Amino acid sequence: MSGPAVVSAEGTPGDLLRFQRNAWRNIVFSVTRRCPLRCAHCVTSSAPELQFPLLGHDAAARWATELAALAELGLRHITFTGGEPTLALGEIALLARAAKAASIEVSVVTSGSWGGNDRQAARVTAALGQSVDCWDFGYDAFHAEHLRPESLARAVNAVLPLAPSVIVRICDDGTAATGDIITTLQAQLGEAAVLMVQPVYAIGRGAETFGLDGAGPDLDLPCMATGPFIREDGSTGPCCASLSYGAAGRHPFDYGSAAADGLAAVWRRWRDDQLLRLIRLAGFRLPLRWLAEEGLLDDAALATDHICETCEHLWDADGRVARLLRARAADPALRPLLDRLEIELYGTVWREAVRAPVPAARGHSILAD
Ligand code: SF4
Ligand code: SF4
Repeated sequence: MSGPAVVSAEGTPGDLLRFQRNAWRNIVFSVTRRCPLRCAHCVTSSAPELQFPLLGHDAAARWATELAALAELGLRHITFTGGEPTLALGEIALLARAAKAASIEVSVVTSGSWGGNDRQAARVTAALGQSVDCWDFGYDAFHAEHLRPESLARAVNAVLPLAPSVIVRICDDGTAATGDIITTLQAQLGEAAVLMVQPVYAIGRGAETFGLDGAGPDLDLPCMATGPFIREDGSTGPCCASLSYGAAGRHPFDYGSAAADGLAAVWRRWRDDQLLRLIRLAGFRLPLRWLAEEGLLDDAALATDHICETCEHLWDADGRVARLLRARAADPALRPLLDRLEIELYGTVWREAVRAPVPAARGHSILAD
């Protein structure tokens, strides 16, 4: 059948290294948790009736003025996510234009819920079409309960001529519905789109829907945090995965306020966090051993299928787990070990630097080099 190619989200070791390296050069803005859909697997537990706040114009304008300086320091990519990020359309358009002016690539993670009619689709493409390099849609059996495939197709096909990279991520629910969705999308989407099939995670509402009863995560996989996560109020976290909103106040990955301190301070704190650096370079084996030594490892956190599910359930209510791991990771002996590991994996320790020449924008998710 013609139509978009179908690929697996599982990559090669080289893909993993490129992803990890590119995450050092990326910032993720969650501009709202609000969303017109209510998918059963939603990581952010979004829903139409939950009136979460939107990124305001003043914060967007301030952060936009910071992007050129961040590009000089090595920022190469920003990502907008939500909820549904196009609900803050003017604000992300403002940030995206500033990013383009600074030769920073832009990705938008969206459901395509704005493809309900031609007028809505034209409004979004007029605001963002010239600034976005990668459109990262999500559509699967869970989205399909709330959004017709024709709407998704209208949104995807509207941006296909405008952006070098258009991906539709399909969470495989393990039923025949996934195959049906793929067939439907192959018939409705232009060939330049890519359909990427990935697993469903028991994170956020997904944890309520599916529960945790896995055989244990693959502890050889590192944390794949996508860059500092900045919420619409300026509060911060490590990633756009389960700790984006889950385990709030209990985990140790808080990098201050981007509203009060600015983006550069948050970006530096994220990169300098030795605990996060440890799990990004070497995974959770050592932190889990530290917790087991102190009798703080809750076995229930290991009854998962993925390390992000474990990460969401690792943190106790009174913060002892977070404090212990932070204290152990602050050992000065750890930094040179991580430096050696980073050099082994990447050839060098990543440092903020005066900007090297930027290759021409090809438009891709941070998974690509
Ligand atoms: S998964 Fe995406 S589209 Fe679905 S409710 Fe959550 S934010 Fe909205
Ligand atoms: S392991 Fe934890 S910090 Fe890393 S991406 Fe997953 S949830 Fe985020």
